[in-house]
Parts: sequence; structure tokens; C-alpha cells
Amino acid sequence: MDKQNRRDFFKNLAIAGATITGLSATSANAAPKKIISDDRMGVLVDTTVCVGCRNCEWACKGSHGIDAGSLESYEDRSVFNEKRRPTAGSYTVVNEYAPIKGSQIAINVKVQCMHCDHPACMSACIVGAFTKEENGSVIWDTGKCIGCRYCMVACPFQIPTFDYLTAIEPEIRKCDFCYNRTKEGKLPACVDICPVEALTYGKRSDLIKIAKDRIKRHPDRYEPELFGEKTVGGTAWMYLSAKKAEELDFPKLENVPAPGVSEAIQHGIFSYFVPPVAYFALLGGIMWISKRKDHDDEEED
Ligand code: SF4
Ligand code: SF4
Ligand code: SF4
Repeated sequence: MDKQNRRDFFKNLAIAGATITGLSATSANAAPKKIISDDRMGVLVDTTVCVGCRNCEWACKGSHGIDAGSLESYEDRSVFNEKRRPTAGSYTVVNEYAPIKGSQIAINVKVQCMHCDHPACMSACIVGAFTKEENGSVIWDTGKCIGCRYCMVACPFQIPTFDYLTAIEPEIRKCDFCYNRTKEGKLPACVDICPVEALTYGKRSDLIKIAKDRIKRHPDRYEPELFGEKTVGGTAWMYLSAKKAEELDFPKLENVPAPGVSEAIQHGIFSYFVPPVAYFALLGGIMWISKRKDHDDEEED
């Protein structure tokens, strides 16, 4: 993710200011723009197949420069004693849930960014740091981020986290759908390593057909809802399960895109207060100076 130059910085700041000052009740209710490709990719997660080996957690860390430790250490199942969420040091985690009635087999659920078709994180970001790529990935530009954390508040799945290695310049951390791998034709690292093919990567429209076929052929095995097909307007990652999504700690969400909600909140706040352009200018300025200093220090070294 490129660092922005001085001109980009001030351009983004100007856009942020213009966006904030130009908001109105009408724009707050505007429908999300079509930003998605018909050929976008996705992942079908079949939680009835997942065995909770957590190889995906290990591979995800390894492919993103995070110390993953030994693969053997992931065999420790005591980690399932508590429910975990993705963090700045682990972009995906697997949790375990009680079996359905009459079954002895625990349910394991992998959690990561859902790569929404209408990403609330992107909609809430005032400097346009996020993009929804043609292949379905929701990625971000670290250089543009001013650390306001609006994306954290807006995400209906509570996914973006920040790396607080430096207090003044935290950086977004979340699953990037292995964008650097998929754009070269490789599988996402977690999909590649899964030993039981609980994760299927493919064209989103094909994955929906596969999922519906499984539900039709095994109605005793699956809940009828394919979570993510329509949830918050559709997501790239979709889940087949023997339990309802709410029983697996997924939030209960509507089938309308979340950005409408987050934009309305954000725009509503600004319609009652003086737009905090000065605040963002100050925050952005501090962050730009900090980045500039780091850059100068690197050059001096
Ligand atoms: S799950 Fe959250 S972080 Fe991921 S694309 Fe959707 S809104 Fe953005
Ligand atoms: S797609 Fe890549 S970044 Fe996302 S959970 Fe899988 S391995 Fe991690
Ligand atoms: S690697 Fe596959 S089977 Fe193992 S925990 Fe991850 S999704 Fe489940």
C-alpha cells in the first residue's frame, strides 16, 4: 500500500472537507453506487466440513509477514475455550460451537472480513482509503488513512482493527482477501492450505449455485439460509451451516446494504454540529508530518 505524496495528502484533505461541508439530508439517504463486477470472486465456507484444525490461521499469518509459530502449536484445542475475534496480529480466527441436537460433532466457524459488496467501511471512510476491487476484495491504502477509525465503527461485522505500534500513526489491519496472491492467479492462503476443502474459492455467482445445490440435496444437514448471499446487500464470503447464523455469533443483519445506515449516522452527526474539518485537518496534518519525518529519517539512515 503506497505512501501518499504531499499533493495527494492535501487533495484528499480538500475532498474530505468538501464532502463533509457538502452533506445534506438528501445525500444521506442516497442509494449506494454500483461498484461491483459481475465476475467478482468469493469464498464458500462450509462449516459442516471444517474440522477446526486452524491451519488457515497459520497460513494467513505466514502470508502476511506475521510470526505464525509452528503449525503443531495450532493443534492445542484449549484455544476454543473462549470465543475470539480477528485482531491486528491474526486476520482470521476459528471458533468452536456446540453440536446440533443428536450430533457429536462440534461446529467450527472461521471468521474474517466478509468483503461486502457494499462495504460500510469504505462508505464511512472520509479520505477514500478503501476500495472494492473488481475481483471482490475490499482493500485499503495505508498512506491515505488518517486513523479516524470510522471504518471500525461502521463495519457491521466489527472487523477492522488497528496496529497501535505507534500511538500517533496506527495502521488498519484486516483480511485483504490475499489480494497480492489472487491478482497473480493464486488461491488465498487459507483456502490453499485447508486440508478438508471447507473453503471453496470461485466466482461468487457459481458459489451460490453450489451452495443452493448442497442445501437442496441435504436439507437435514444445512439451514436453508446461505449467510452472506443477501446479508447487508451481499458479501464475498458466504457460509453454509447446520445452525442459524445468529447462533454462531454472526450479528443479525438486514438484507439492505449497511452503508446507508453508516452514512446516515455520519451525515446526521454533521448536520447538527459544525463540520469538524479543522479537527480532520489537524489530525491529518499531524499524521502527514509524522509520516514525512519517518520518511526523512529513513532517507538519512
Ligand atoms: S466486513 Fe467490515 S471491513 Fe470487511 S468489507 Fe464489510 S464493512 Fe468492510
Ligand atoms: S483470504 Fe488471505 S488475508 Fe483473508 S483470511 Fe484468508 S489468508 Fe487471511
Ligand atoms: S483450515 Fe479448513 S478445516 Fe482447518 S480450521 Fe481452517 S477452514 Fe477449518
